[in-house]
Amino acid sequence: MFEYAPAPESRSVVDIAPSYGLFIDGSFVPASPSGGVFKTVNPASEEVLAEVASAGVEDVDLAVAAARRAFGPWSALPGAERAKYLFRIARIIQERSRELAVLESLDNGKPIKESRDVDLPLVAAHFFYYAGWADKLAYAGYGQNPRPLGVAAQVIPWNFPLLMLAWKIAPALAAGNTVVLKPAETTPLSALFFADICRQADLPPGVVNIITGAGETGRALVEHPGVDKVAFTGSTEVGRQIAGSVAGTRKRLTLELGGKAANIVFDDAPIDQAVEGIVNGIFFNQGHVCCAGSRLLVQESAYDEVLTALKRRMATLRVGDPLDKNTDIGAINSAAQLSRIHELSEIGDSEGAQRWSPQCELPAQGYWFAPTIFTGVTQAHRIAREEIFGPVLSVLTFRTPDEAIEKANNTPYGLSAGVWTEKGSLILAMADRLRAGVVWANTFNKFDPTSPFGGYKESGYGREGGRHGLEAYLA
Ligand code: NDP
Repeated sequence: MFEYAPAPESRSVVDIAPSYGLFIDGSFVPASPSGGVFKTVNPASEEVLAEVASAGVEDVDLAVAAARRAFGPWSALPGAERAKYLFRIARIIQERSRELAVLESLDNGKPIKESRDVDLPLVAAHFFYYAGWADKLAYAGYGQNPRPLGVAAQVIPWNFPLLMLAWKIAPALAAGNTVVLKPAETTPLSALFFADICRQADLPPGVVNIITGAGETGRALVEHPGVDKVAFTGSTEVGRQIAGSVAGTRKRLTLELGGKAANIVFDDAPIDQAVEGIVNGIFFNQGHVCCAGSRLLVQESAYDEVLTALKRRMATLRVGDPLDKNTDIGAINSAAQLSRIHELSEIGDSEGAQRWSPQCELPAQGYWFAPTIFTGVTQAHRIAREEIFGPVLSVLTFRTPDEAIEKANNTPYGLSAGVWTEKGSLILAMADRLRAGVVWANTFNKFDPTSPFGGYKESGYGREGGRHGLEAYLA
């Protein structure tokens, strides 16, 4: 294979301040004495990017109070007026998308081609889409006079920082709610830049509040008696805790949790396309994707052909500098996540599965993991059951559609699945029986703001996106 010359995106398009406060009531403010500060690093280099305020309980009080004050006037605005703000935000995101894409790659470690071509266009699309709904809520199918819930507490993870923010904030605002959002501790910067965009769009103070901090800040926010609605995306473990704390209160709750999706390849599938789908399914965003196709189910008769083509394709994946436009796989988001991926992979070795990675040189500095597949995996293996949340694929086989369904559904999760076959009837029959919120046919990891997304079983409840996504924010 020939060598690519470096093709770095310019870092100078983004200006990161040395420190950031909390965004409460339309202004950046330092944390109260109950809070503190923490540092956010670039996972590709371990360089400190900025010092960020950590919100304590008093700050959470202030943010919730600001959102409460803003709720009356914001919810009283005609939907068409709220829509103008959302359209304005969407257009500013488009205008600033290069800056935001570079920022996201710096703070998260994801390749620039993904932040530039996937995350940012989808972020803008979500604001455009929900702006369109703001004056049509009476036609969304939730009653003739749907009312907003009030103050929404939103806690998001680190894998798609700005996109998860858009999934949460756009429908909440369109429906007339105000929000307090906490980004993940390892990726706070794009949410803080979004706060600046809210100011640029002249959004009334208090409609959007961004409080940074660690898990304790998230806990204080979701447990705050002043919030009416909790929306969480993250691990099943934390989701369970939140469900427990919200139980018995009047708060409404939606949870989008983990997954262990089956990507099912039949022997009549176009193998080269299926291999692209397998690669996209598990190596997109370093596998830090809740709906990642982390369990490959291959029909036995096509196993050798698929595995040979998959290994050949994996050998061409480029791992390295997230800001290089040719990079396919960037850095693992944090040292903690890297050690979790190592731990589960070692469990895979010790359980008897065979590990394979292409030859690939990993940078000395930062957090990296080579794209990896495990073959000889059985359903009992922990690497077939637990969410690794990294670039690690477990390969299993099946003979009949019934066996594929049985294995695909044999998981505590139910977020997504993929089916690869030439037969439309088989796709429909499989989709009908797969217990997954999203089933992709001859594609994988396709997202669209008009399409609802969410899980069954331990993958959570409620839907985000589409008309369905409005329901979570309306009474
Ligand atoms: P968490 O579920 O801990 O984090 C998600 C968000 O919740 C973060 O903003 C986090 O803050 C916050 N949080 C943590 N504890 C609480 C709490 N008690 N109450 C309220 N909010 C809280 O995920 P991790 O980052 O720890 O990742 C662990 C594993 O979870 C991963 O390995 C992966 O398997 C899975 N995961 C799944 C995701 C998905 O999209 N389904 C996304 C992220 C992770 P902070 O970041 O500061 O801790």
